[in-house]
Amino acid sequence: MTELRWNPTVREWVSTATERQNRPLLPQDWCPFCPGSGRVPDHYDVYIYPNDFPAFSVPPPEPAIEGDDLYRVRKSYGKCDVVLYHPDHNTSLPQLSLSHLTLLVRLWRKRFEELRSLPGIRYVLIFENKGAVIGVTMPHPHGQIYAFPFVPPRLEKEVAAARAYQRAHRRCLYCEILKKERSGGRRMIAENEEFSAFIPFYARWPYEVHIFSRRHLQTLSEFRPAEEEALAQILKWVTLKYDNLYGFSFPYMMLLHQSPTQGRHPSFHFHIEFYPPHRSKDKLKYMASVETGSGAFLNDSLAEEKAAELRAANPTQAPG
Ligand SMILES: [Zn+2]
Ligand SMILES: [Zn+2]
Ligand SMILES: [Zn+2]
Repeated sequence: MTELRWNPTVREWVSTATERQNRPLLPQDWCPFCPGSGRVPDHYDVYIYPNDFPAFSVPPPEPAIEGDDLYRVRKSYGKCDVVLYHPDHNTSLPQLSLSHLTLLVRLWRKRFEELRSLPGIRYVLIFENKGAVIGVTMPHPHGQIYAFPFVPPRLEKEVAAARAYQRAHRRCLYCEILKKERSGGRRMIAENEEFSAFIPFYARWPYEVHIFSRRHLQTLSEFRPAEEEALAQILKWVTLKYDNLYGFSFPYMMLLHQSPTQGRHPSFHFHIEFYPPHRSKDKLKYMASVETGSGAFLNDSLAEEKAAELRAANPTQAPG
């Protein structure tokens, strides 16, 4: 059973998906994402695989419970895809070649455009959970795409903030942040012609890295071919730095923040956000009481110091 339940106290939808409880845990000897499993083509480079335990689907199932005016219930209409990064079970994003990563960026774009055109879809969220500490049940390198029937709350907040800033200052908020970060440089960790990666001034997590497109773009659909390649390159650099920081495959949550798929959002600016849970080599930051129950974050580190650590981790300068 899966449905959307409205929380009127914070005005947010909660997706309930009880079937997800039956998800398999780290399979020991069989992986559905490996060629030869019978579940994916025998030969692929990158591949969209429908999630076996979707939180959203078309057509959606009937809700398990009836709603009313106070407790609104909606069908969990939408899509959940798994994006397979590579047929090799034992690789990860930073180990992929630039040409292979460019294929991934193009697949994201193609799938984004398909999902965006489905009626009733309001947001397409491309993301990756990496590492067992994030709760990843399949070690095969993959990300996911959720097509939502509503704009998720954090994105809604970003869209509103960008619009308000644009109205008040006649400038893009993100372009202003980019200008400030690039001129200061203290929080910058990597740059190429088209993208800048830095720990934002307002980071909530110690190693939180954001990648901003230098051009004022809203979605992957507006990317030029050079931008697709440059995105592949900066993704590789950032994730390589993460892996080289402590010498192990660094877990993270990564999300592409694009504008909502309905209406026009000219003040929004494409960016990617990384949230690694580590605050040191062997310590994790948790979503504890204050973070979970109040929404306010306590970051025990200085963005400037953490950025210096990531700047010093290889690759230390723009490799070709
Ligand atoms: Zn596999
Ligand atoms: Zn902008
Ligand atoms: Zn964002």
